[in-house]
Amino acid sequence: MLLWVPFVFYSYTIVINSWVTKKRICILNQCYLCGKEFNDTDVKKHDEHIIQQSIGGNLTQNDILCSKCGGKLGKEIDEPFSKIFDGIATRLDIKKDRKGSKQSSSTKGKYVNLKYKLLSLNWTKEYQNMNLLDFQYQFNQFCNEIGEIDVIWKNFKVYPVKPFHKYVENNKKVIVYGNQKNTKKYKRKVESEITNKFKDEEKPEIVICDDIEGVVEYPFNMNNQAFKKGLAKIAIGFASKYGIKRENLPLVLDIENNLIRDKIPTIQFYPLGIIDRLIEIQKNEFDHYPFHNLILFTLDYNPNIGKGKKVLICYIELFSTFQWYVILNEEYYGESIYEYYAQNILKKDDYIIKLGRRYYKERNIWLQPLGITEEYIDKKYNSREDKSKSRWDIEEELIQEETIKQKYKLDFDSYLYNIISGISQQVLIFKDKEKFKDLKTSLTEFLNKDNLINEYNQSLNSFEDFINFKQNLDLFFSQKYNEQYDDYDEIFSINSFRKFFYANGLKNYYTALLEKYYILNKSSALRTYGYQKMNMLNHYIQMENIKHKTQQNLAPNR
Ligand SMILES: [Zn+2]
Repeated sequence: MLLWVPFVFYSYTIVINSWVTKKRICILNQCYLCGKEFNDTDVKKHDEHIIQQSIGGNLTQNDILCSKCGGKLGKEIDEPFSKIFDGIATRLDIKKDRKGSKQSSSTKGKYVNLKYKLLSLNWTKEYQNMNLLDFQYQFNQFCNEIGEIDVIWKNFKVYPVKPFHKYVENNKKVIVYGNQKNTKKYKRKVESEITNKFKDEEKPEIVICDDIEGVVEYPFNMNNQAFKKGLAKIAIGFASKYGIKRENLPLVLDIENNLIRDKIPTIQFYPLGIIDRLIEIQKNEFDHYPFHNLILFTLDYNPNIGKGKKVLICYIELFSTFQWYVILNEEYYGESIYEYYAQNILKKDDYIIKLGRRYYKERNIWLQPLGITEEYIDKKYNSREDKSKSRWDIEEELIQEETIKQKYKLDFDSYLYNIISGISQQVLIFKDKEKFKDLKTSLTEFLNKDNLINEYNQSLNSFEDFINFKQNLDLFFSQKYNEQYDDYDEIFSINSFRKFFYANGLKNYYTALLEKYYILNKSSALRTYGYQKMNMLNHYIQMENIKHKTQQNLAPNR
């Protein structure tokens, strides 16, 4: 649904669409790092995860890196990069390896004094409400005098690294904090302490607490260089997938020395456009949160001066939280591009495929849409580790693998269409607040969210603000005359997303963020924004873990 009939800026949308060429995938047949052409002997193709598998990445490409360089970058770049996200990936229960070691992963954090936390919480009201019961229960029952302690997250439970105990309720109870394993020995120590301290009839009851999930802070071990090199590797992989030659990635790739550069030009994303701002403030309430998203695009210089010169940029969003532009080339003369990929992160139930007798007949119906070629099956078959496997087994495995990948893939066009239309609806309601106040529909739900209404108030207070909103909306929606029906069709186009916005005229993010960097940084707007996104993710993970516990009956042992 379109809120306003487009007027003056209508032509822009058309122009933007025409800049973008159709999907073109050209196969380079060479490794982007060493530049060697692939063969079957010494330069073998490597199955590369464009977004690191350790953070749940599912996009693979098998003709952009050779196995030697793939292995090298895995060690030098992926390993330190993955370490940064370890706490997040573990708590989100991302399956690190599909073939999977059964070993359960754990991560370290700090249990923070709750009293202090309760007083200082300043995220949304909803956040406080949702957690308050849990806080109070834990606060009263267990943790009222626990200071900051080191904890371990494992299998959805949080327990202290070193067990300890505390007397409560006038010595009627003693609580031992720890997990099943490390409390066994410790419990005996407490028992003997009780025997020495108390008479038989006054002995307190021992209670084991093996889960102190409440407000736990997980250190985010940001390593700036490892982080940026990891981003660069994602960007290079994604650009190579779309046929961008290694010579065309000079700001991130040193092709004389076959290296990814140490200094990577990046710009942190900050929502300058109103629609982007309204998306980001409530992103965790939309479906598919958190997801990974990549957008490769070009930006034209002024055609009079630039003569076809473009900037080549990759926008990377990880966990819907870390949002960065990687600048790949500031003097790019290739065709215009806008290519994107998005995927869900949370583990989907595994899907076991058993190909029946009919499969042989339907073989192509399976293989084609999954993009599995005979050549690829042969390659996998010839390089199989388990020699007892038949070509048939390998084929079945590939179908299984690709089907899972498809399940993770997010239809980003529809996703954006839905949330941007949703936001226009919200704006309509917001404009007519009074009229909708008493209605209890899902559309008006958002009127009860003070933080959102505040945001809308700030962003849409004046008539100019509404015009500005409409202009931003027009970047996505346009109308095209349909001769047959003598009417206009509405056209939705994603191609301005994270590229353009309106604020006193059409702006591009690249230039605007560079120009505003000083102000945004000095006013600590960038830091605050990053902190808010991180809070949003942590809050989400905590809620998911509680949900998991309820479902699995893993409630704290009290
Ligand atoms: Zn190579």
